[in-house]
Amino acid sequence: MPYVDFNELKQRFKTEKVAELLGLQLKQSGQALRGPCPACQSGGERAIVITPAKGVFFCFAAREGGDLIQLAAHIRKCDVKDAAAWLDGGTVPSKKEDSREPSSPKGNSSLAYLEHDHVAVEALGFTAADAKALGIGYAPKGILRGTVAVPVRLEDGTLAGYIGITEAKLPPRWHGIATNVVPLPKRA
Ligand SMILES: [Zn+2]
Repeated sequence: MPYVDFNELKQRFKTEKVAELLGLQLKQSGQALRGPCPACQSGGERAIVITPAKGVFFCFAAREGGDLIQLAAHIRKCDVKDAAAWLDGGTVPSKKEDSREPSSPKGNSSLAYLEHDHVAVEALGFTAADAKALGIGYAPKGILRGTVAVPVRLEDGTLAGYIGITEAKLPPRWHGIATNVVPLPKRA
């Protein structure tokens, strides 16, 4: 049934190769690549963030993200199957199907709707586990909609609020700053 083996494609194509094929103008920014989005033509020079190590992207102009095949779909404004076929160099199948996975909000933060395993969170360099532990998540709604919400805490750990970020300057080793992080209560 599948026209193209998505997993095989992802192994075959490096992020840089996909970006080159798509004609993206990316600049290194920490562990990520940033650049304007030719599909959205908005959001400025840093609209798109791609993390090669994880093979994921997020477009802050469109508030869309995903894997490299979804990146190709976003830039080429087609569905993922067409994008995969395009990457594969094969013929474009006519059947259309939305294979995007629904993301499920998890309830371990004060803003219950924050999505810790959202691709935008991952694209900024956090693992889903770290994001969940730290209460960091993508905001699909509310005042921080379209950004990654990071909790701001008082010295005693009280949650003071959130800031919405589209950029992250992470220390080289994320876990190296554990002493600066107020741990959340352990979940059962
Ligand atoms: Zn875009």
